[in-house]
Amino acid sequence: MDLKKLAARLIPDENLPSLEDCEKAYPPRKLKQGAEVTRLAPSPTGFIHLGNLYSALADERTAHTTDGIFYLRIEDTDEKRKVDGAVESVIRSLKYFGVNFDEGAEIDGENAYGPYYQRRRAPIYRAFAKDLIERGLAYPCFCTEEELDEIRKIQTEKKEVTGYYGAYAVWRDKSEEEIYAALDAGKPFVIRLRSQGDVNIKHTFRDAIKGSITVTENNQDVVILKSDGIPTYHFAHAIDDHFMRTTLVIRGEEWLSSLPIHIELFKVLGFELPRYGHTCSLMKVDGGTKRKLSKRKDPELSLDFYRAAGYYPQAVIKYLMTILNSNFEEWVAKNPDKDYKQFPFSVSKMGKSGALFDLDKLNDVSRDELSKITPDEMFEFLAAWVAEFGTDADRAHFNDREYIVKILALIMGAGQKKRRKDIVRAEQGVRLLDYFFDDTFAPQYTFRADGETVKVMLEGFAKLYDEADDNSAWFAKLKQAAAAAGFAAENAEYKANPQAYKGNVTDAAEIVRIAITGSPNSPDLCTVMGILGKERSLARLTAAIN
Ligand code: GLU
Repeated sequence: MDLKKLAARLIPDENLPSLEDCEKAYPPRKLKQGAEVTRLAPSPTGFIHLGNLYSALADERTAHTTDGIFYLRIEDTDEKRKVDGAVESVIRSLKYFGVNFDEGAEIDGENAYGPYYQRRRAPIYRAFAKDLIERGLAYPCFCTEEELDEIRKIQTEKKEVTGYYGAYAVWRDKSEEEIYAALDAGKPFVIRLRSQGDVNIKHTFRDAIKGSITVTENNQDVVILKSDGIPTYHFAHAIDDHFMRTTLVIRGEEWLSSLPIHIELFKVLGFELPRYGHTCSLMKVDGGTKRKLSKRKDPELSLDFYRAAGYYPQAVIKYLMTILNSNFEEWVAKNPDKDYKQFPFSVSKMGKSGALFDLDKLNDVSRDELSKITPDEMFEFLAAWVAEFGTDADRAHFNDREYIVKILALIMGAGQKKRRKDIVRAEQGVRLLDYFFDDTFAPQYTFRADGETVKVMLEGFAKLYDEADDNSAWFAKLKQAAAAAGFAAENAEYKANPQAYKGNVTDAAEIVRIAITGSPNSPDLCTVMGILGKERSLARLTAAIN
């Protein structure tokens, strides 16, 4: 068969680049020895998840700890799954977490290794597919979906491996007449690889994460160009990672089963195989058993969840680092003031199977991280969340920076030896500010004392309250009002004779606390009243009497 003629009929495109042109257009990168080129290659489906961030962080750390390059490639070959704005969402989400690309889609235009959208690289894929056809290493297949279903059915019944291979590869050895007849009849076709592999041959493969694994040769005549002329993931991956000069492909372990196909594709294309690292899936404990995080069941799989809930990006990254490299925590303990970027990250130390993701642990890391920042930094962090996700009332409150910073200094225990760790994330932190504003003050007046006692206590304290009092003068007055309302002013007195009192001074303070803050738990009450100001404080004491 005249394969050149067949290739020209199957891929008639004019102006395809020559294979040499491609090599020249994408020369090996001039990087120092050992520099790694990594990439994130998401499909623009609009769903960017924790697994993507986990991989991206491994990619970014690998590239940037070796003076290499980390780039973004958009795998948009599946038009049906494409969602508008998905690329911007990937970039924005990763930027939120401080994971930045050096080059790639939408970044500083397109540089020498682009375009970074696969659909825009069609001529390159087609040129290489054409070459494979000319070399007898690829061929057209005219099978309909129904015919393929039928093959699958037979294979399943016979308990054989499913797919298009061996005797099931019906178009692999069709005659010239049959092929041209199908073409003349205008039948749609795909281009398949003519696999040279043998499933009886196994090789040892060194995965950068999983270590030594056994790989069986591929014998599937996989589709390389779909009927619309667009490449499959397999084919595009081999060509792009070659020409974008990726040195290490870090991707999910769900691709491990396709590795034999990729090894064969690199071979027939004449490209050097990059190194691969297959990341393990993120798991969670659910009802005592471990399972994969699921898009349907676990909102925490979506990266949007972390932005909307106002997670401190650095905390998420630090937590992911602890999952990525088990020696990270120990390093942090030894280097508490160093940036995580100084940690000597290594793909070879990544978990080989099932990384456990635990929201409670993330919350702990988040509390810790947020307890290290200043009230001003906290203001910036919360204000950014409020601008995007807060209510109108939140936005109005955040116009008064001075007032909020004062509250934050109190809530965070700024200046104290042991900082408070009340703020876990922005969504929850902003709610801690609510009672400092009248429009969001929603008190629950559930006093433990009777109405008359509450009245006497609050009226008595209101009369004595002086904004100018320091903490001890304030407390002395509280005790005075407590005693007048029938509480023991001193704990020792109460302990000696509890029957004689309505409670101790803490019980009396609780009445004031509920009146002022709306709940029995709050930071230092004297300071809270100072921040609220005399007028508002007295109004609250009065409002609580009923
Ligand atoms: N587009 C593939 C995915 O989103 C990328 C796999 C890879 O990184 O090579 O799963």
